[in-house]
Amino acid sequence: MTSPDMDLQRLDYAGVQVPAAIRPAADTADLRHRELRDGEWWREIPAWSDVDAATFVDHRWQAKHSVTSLKRLLRTIEGVVSDEFFADVERGFRLAPMSVRVSPYVLSLIDWSSPWDDPLRRQFIPVASKLLPDHPKLDFDSLHEQADAPTPGLTHRYADKALFLPLDTCPVYCRFCTRSYAIGLDTEGVEKVALRPNKDRWRAAFAYVASRPELEDIVISGGDAYNLRPDWIREIGHTLLDMANIRRLRYATKGIAIMPQKVITDDDWLDAITEVTERGRRIGKEVVIHTHFNTAREITEHSRLAADRLMERGITVRNQSVLIKGVNDTVDEMTLLVKRLSYINVHPYYVYMHDMVKGVEDLRTTLATGIHLEKTVRGTTAGFNTPTFVCDAPGGGGKRAIHSFEHYERETGVSVFSAPSVKPGWFLYFDPLHTLPASGRERWADSTQHEVIVSEAIEAAESRSEYLHP
Ligand SMILES: *Cc1c(COP(=O)(O)O)cnc(C)c1O
Ligand code: SF4
Repeated sequence: MTSPDMDLQRLDYAGVQVPAAIRPAADTADLRHRELRDGEWWREIPAWSDVDAATFVDHRWQAKHSVTSLKRLLRTIEGVVSDEFFADVERGFRLAPMSVRVSPYVLSLIDWSSPWDDPLRRQFIPVASKLLPDHPKLDFDSLHEQADAPTPGLTHRYADKALFLPLDTCPVYCRFCTRSYAIGLDTEGVEKVALRPNKDRWRAAFAYVASRPELEDIVISGGDAYNLRPDWIREIGHTLLDMANIRRLRYATKGIAIMPQKVITDDDWLDAITEVTERGRRIGKEVVIHTHFNTAREITEHSRLAADRLMERGITVRNQSVLIKGVNDTVDEMTLLVKRLSYINVHPYYVYMHDMVKGVEDLRTTLATGIHLEKTVRGTTAGFNTPTFVCDAPGGGGKRAIHSFEHYERETGVSVFSAPSVKPGWFLYFDPLHTLPASGRERWADSTQHEVIVSEAIEAAESRSEYLHP
């Protein structure tokens, strides 16, 4: 069989005839992950038509021109979208329980000719017309991060690792944020738990970490490590590296995905991270960055430059995505994301089921969607670049591989997990109601059925579990 694209196939290599192929030659479509957006695409937005590359790549310009209010958004995309879309955003902002902050980089990547469907718009800009009622089993702080916190901003749920939240701000605010209980400014109807960068609070967290010999691994999240000043990065990093029990640190930042320009041009910040990483390496401790890309569209030539810079400095970057409806819930998109991340040397680590968060029911998918995507993605690339699909079980069960459910009832959308090494009991996840068959939706419509639905699912899990672990 001949290749549809002869350019892709070499017939000789260094003068030697290439042996006949077993597999059909790759189609150009299979190599789309290598096509990174380049050039000065942001100039398509009238407000930035005069912005040159040197300005756009300047992290200070990115921060200064981030959109934090409806008024500013209006000014930026004036003349680019219809009045109808604008009115929808206006109402969306009023109903959103999150603060709003979007970087120019993200805004410039949105396809404003179809703003309702755009995967970046969906993640950062609420529109009222797409909002759906919350699931009846939805709790604020569904992950019980606060209940598992011995001191504010330190969650100790797993035996050997803990989550430290030194601050509560981010370079962007995501609609789907798990930590909407703490992140960003108070919004209408939602009063946040303050986790400001307070040195006394940090000292209490450090004292706890040092006092627990079993803790080896600290996730420094937030908020977002992008917003940590270089001296804070050093202080937190060195303090933790000084502790004999600590072996691994991760700085978590969405920044690399939504503002790669900072890695490219903020030398002070990058030097601070590099210093901690290098010291870790000298004393045999691992320091890495965890980031959060959700679509292949977010990965441009700027991302590659940023990723290359980190690689040059020997800093490992891993990625955690959230599975989001209309963003990355198709085989095509998820595969492209995984391959493009791998291409720029960012390791796909996790894909999370969307947490049960208020006001974003339109963004959740079913567990079945996750299971299907995992099956399809596995086998497309290296195993170490194949993400584990997990559900961070509501109620504090922690991350569970989505295939490991004890019971999954498609009619009512209830899945039941157990977490023997984390916490006793059953942990339940609920598919969005609008994805259920009519019979399942009818049962949820009757509030007297809710407890029945839950106990049925747990009973089924119990009997299956007896069979699996006699
Ligand atoms: C996710 C998380 C961790 C880190 O878990 P990994 O599976 O090792 O990535 C640690 N603590 C808490 C509370 C977490 O939510
Ligand atoms: S960057 Fe992370 S912590 Fe910040 S709003 Fe987005 S998901 Fe939440």
